[in-house]
Amino acid sequence: MLIPSATKYSSYFTLKSFTMGRMTLLLCAHILTFAVLSFASPPNDAYPSGYGDDSGSCRRSADDLLPLRREVYDDGRIFDISHRYREDLPSWESAEGLGQFLWLPASMKNGSLANNSEMKLPTHTGTHVDAPGHVFDHYFDAGFDVDTLDLGVLNGPALLVDVPRDKNITDLMVLLQLQGEMFPKVMDYAVQLMLPSRLLKCIDILCYCPEVMKSLNIPRGVRRVLFRTLNTDRGLMWKKEFDTSYVGFMKDGAKWLVENTDIKLVGVDYLSVAAFDDLIPAHLVFLEGRITNIINTNNAEMLQEIILVEGLKLDDVQTGIYSVHCLPLRLLGAEGSPIRCILIK
Ligand SMILES: [Zn+2]
Repeated sequence: MLIPSATKYSSYFTLKSFTMGRMTLLLCAHILTFAVLSFASPPNDAYPSGYGDDSGSCRRSADDLLPLRREVYDDGRIFDISHRYREDLPSWESAEGLGQFLWLPASMKNGSLANNSEMKLPTHTGTHVDAPGHVFDHYFDAGFDVDTLDLGVLNGPALLVDVPRDKNITDLMVLLQLQGEMFPKVMDYAVQLMLPSRLLKCIDILCYCPEVMKSLNIPRGVRRVLFRTLNTDRGLMWKKEFDTSYVGFMKDGAKWLVENTDIKLVGVDYLSVAAFDDLIPAHLVFLEGRITNIINTNNAEMLQEIILVEGLKLDDVQTGIYSVHCLPLRLLGAEGSPIRCILIK
């Protein structure tokens, strides 16, 4: 909201203040009337408590006002699966978290006519979306930014699945031995199994391997899948310190999904879709595939890359089919954007 400068518009605001003062009185009267009329009705949980009470005064002290912050709306029908932007949100490779991202340069307490805050935020913070320009410089130069992402993909029926995380060490060894290329990694981790975090990491890699993706039995035709993993169990998005042992896709797991499913939207529950040890390759597989197909086959069905939504808040939501709605900001030239995502039953 742009506010005209105080000097230039002082008379406007004097007049406006007078008018506003009268309006406020009228509004008070209306609120009080409403409060009396609605005295016998159950409280409406769509509004913060403290609204329209019968205390006889419209002006409440800050201590009395308590905004309602919710994760679930409309009697359990709508789930907010975006993380709230807060200073202790984990930030990529930082031990300190996001830190201050919001300032109030124009404050009513300091005489401004209105509060006007400013923010500075890495575009890949918290719940966010990646555009192809994130990992392909030629796509970045060509303008494949978040403004080009298809809202038709970001909105529609979606499957929320739990990625298995109960594999024991025996399963782990058997499955990893099936993948010759990963065997050196097994040996690497085997010597460190006494360290819990490394053990978790070992299981994490297993979680997104092709065998486990296959075991999820995601039917053809499913275009949007949100993967809930050990990241959610471990509450990683609630921990300030960035954790490299998060669950993420390895390149071969990503490749399996691209080649064997119709998924166009992949949602994950930590800051990157790709495992820390295989960061770029899995991103490349997801973000390149469909665009290459445009050039090679000119097939209209294959026009889209896969859209990656990262840092989702999937706590306390049951697995199953929902309607997902994700809306990124229209940041021209940006390869990432904060995104608000909800699930509707
Ligand atoms: Zn990202």
